[in-house]
Amino acid sequence: MSDRTQVGIIGAGPAGMLLAVLLHRAGVSCVVFERRDREYVTSRARGATTEHRVVELLRRHGLAENLLATGAVEDAVEFRLGGRRYPVHYEPLAAGRSHYIYPQQFLVRDLIDLYLAEGGDLRFETPVAAIDDVTGAPRIVLADGRGELYCEVVAGCDGEYGVARAAVPAGALTCVDYQYDYAWLSVLAQAPPSSDCVINAMHESGACVHVRRTPTVSRFYLQCGRDETREHWPDERIWKEVRLRLTLDEPWTLHTGPITATGTVRMRSLVCSPMRYGSLFLVGDAAHIVPPVGGKGFNLALADAEELALGLIEQLRDGDRRRADSYSQQRLARIWRAQEFVHWMMDLVNTPGHGTSAAPFLHRVQAARLARLMDSPAYLAAFLEDYVGWW
Ligand SMILES: Cc1cc2nc3c(=O)[nH]c(=O)nc-3n(C[C@H](O)[C@H](O)[C@H](O)COP(=O)(O)OP(=O)(O)OC[C@H]3O[C@@H](n4cnc5c(N)ncnc54)[C@H](O)[C@@H]3O)c2cc1C
Repeated sequence: MSDRTQVGIIGAGPAGMLLAVLLHRAGVSCVVFERRDREYVTSRARGATTEHRVVELLRRHGLAENLLATGAVEDAVEFRLGGRRYPVHYEPLAAGRSHYIYPQQFLVRDLIDLYLAEGGDLRFETPVAAIDDVTGAPRIVLADGRGELYCEVVAGCDGEYGVARAAVPAGALTCVDYQYDYAWLSVLAQAPPSSDCVINAMHESGACVHVRRTPTVSRFYLQCGRDETREHWPDERIWKEVRLRLTLDEPWTLHTGPITATGTVRMRSLVCSPMRYGSLFLVGDAAHIVPPVGGKGFNLALADAEELALGLIEQLRDGDRRRADSYSQQRLARIWRAQEFVHWMMDLVNTPGHGTSAAPFLHRVQAARLARLMDSPAYLAAFLEDYVGWW
């Protein structure tokens, strides 16, 4: 196969699919290549916490119907420390703005259904092996000799370990990262949520975060050592630590159930800039990573995709390159603000300096930060602005 299109999109995750839907609807031709099958991409459970501004983004483009109909509104977050709960209600500061809990695989499913129903070209089980000549005549080369695609623009929406970032020559891309000295064990359980909002428990043994996913599925995150794996965490240990870290001095019920998936999330922040090289644009996790605390990853990916779609529509349909040319600069300002917020929240939620002589001091700083959040309306307003996402 040797083909031609305006935009070649690598990856059918949230970023790739939103970009594809917006371009296709605007009459810009595109082809999406996805290395996995449809079942895999529409059932891969990752994020679910959708920010206010991303809900508005989807609503603006008429893509929020299922999310608004079946997603759960979240208008509070709870912190726990020393057996006490510290609830934070978004109102009145949020003035009607809230999170929606809508698993990202449902959104990916919605976008795929729509794109295909509207005649979009999406090729599953078609891995991209390489991207060539992005400063000349860009070409996407498929794996296993399955052909190539010439395009005017390549959108690398292929996640943290994709081929797009690797296609940028050394020296043309600057990547800066930060590795936390702990990890999170992520646990998906067939258990009804034990709370109708996110719980961030700050405990001497490490953080425990509880997030509802659907009425029958809950996710728990347990702060753990970087080298720990599922072998270190048999089911009994998981539930014992969840119970311990979420403990309250008042009655409450923890719902447990069969554990359906676990994984170790290495806590890493990364930003690569610029998010463009020649006619290759990097979008979402291909350009930047945040740890899951605060739920920013797929929200940033969707916001990148919208900005790039609007820029490419102006460039390829109307001949005006200005918005596409400012994509990287415009997005990096937002991405760094999110990085700063997530870094701050990581220090708030996770037990700092675990096992070191600095731990007692840092633990008290952590408690003082929570006390300030509870005491100062100005501090709380600043937190909500970034957490709920309306800036
Ligand atoms: C456990 C966990 C929980 C999370 N929780 C949240 C949360 O609550 N809120 C939040 O906002 N974010 C969360 N995130 C982050 C979020 O999932 C990611 O930021 C988001 O998936 C990024 O979307 P993307 O489209 O950029 O990349 P991805 O979702 O990674 O999609 C990339 C796609 O490209 C495909 N691909 C890769 N290489 C190739 C190739 N060579 N050829 C063809 N296709 C290719 C992949 O198969 C994949 O389908 C979480 C992440 C994890 C791991």
